[in-house]
Amino acid sequence: MDKRLKKMTAIFFLAAAADLFLAAVLLASLARQRAEGAAAPGTGRVVEDGGWDGLGTEEAGAVALTFDDGPNARYTEALLDGLKEREVRASFFLVGQCIEGNEDTVRRMAEEGHLIGVHCMEHRDLTRESEEEAVRQLMDTAAMIGAVTGRMPEYIRPPFGKWSSGLQEAVPMETVLWSVDSLDWKLQDTDRIVQRVLKDTEDGDIILMHDEFQTSVEAAMEIIDNLLAKGYTFVTVDELTID
Ligand SMILES: [Zn+2]
Repeated sequence: MDKRLKKMTAIFFLAAAADLFLAAVLLASLARQRAEGAAAPGTGRVVEDGGWDGLGTEEAGAVALTFDDGPNARYTEALLDGLKEREVRASFFLVGQCIEGNEDTVRRMAEEGHLIGVHCMEHRDLTRESEEEAVRQLMDTAAMIGAVTGRMPEYIRPPFGKWSSGLQEAVPMETVLWSVDSLDWKLQDTDRIVQRVLKDTEDGDIILMHDEFQTSVEAAMEIIDNLLAKGYTFVTVDELTID
């Protein structure tokens, strides 16, 4: 073998060895990726492009969407349409003085399986009224709801969350507050409401919204679509365990 041929042979073997080494490294790294993929926990799957497929393989939890200050002649029907389309039930806390003229909407809420509770008669801070007057307003509102739906409400959400132990004793209804405040009345911006609610919502949450703005209705639909895709279910407040 002449010198030149020897050198070529040596280069060939070196190159072949380098290829083998690279192949071994690649195989090892592929095996590791597969092992990590198989061990990944969670309810969704990471798809090829690195994105999230958005489909849960198990339920992510149950949440309750709640709407105060209705019924609203302009927006509540649109909200009910969207809820029906998505087969989602919500809870509505009504203002007594808004019921007159919107009885059909209230009846529809009941017929479509939504929970109807009492908010107030005139949206005032009940702790600033005499207890007697506050109780009268709440019971009058309950009676109005009962007359329209045929069923007396069992839940109350006081305006501004202002409540007292005296009122709790005098009013034969369970109090429901909230754990996620959408601030929809203040933001009136669909994207910001959606982001705010999705950031804070987890299993067992009660989300506070108001069916008196277009942006609230739009945001509610986006929130529902997003949480349904994550595997959440929507329940009425009586179906959540309230401590
Ligand atoms: Zn309110």
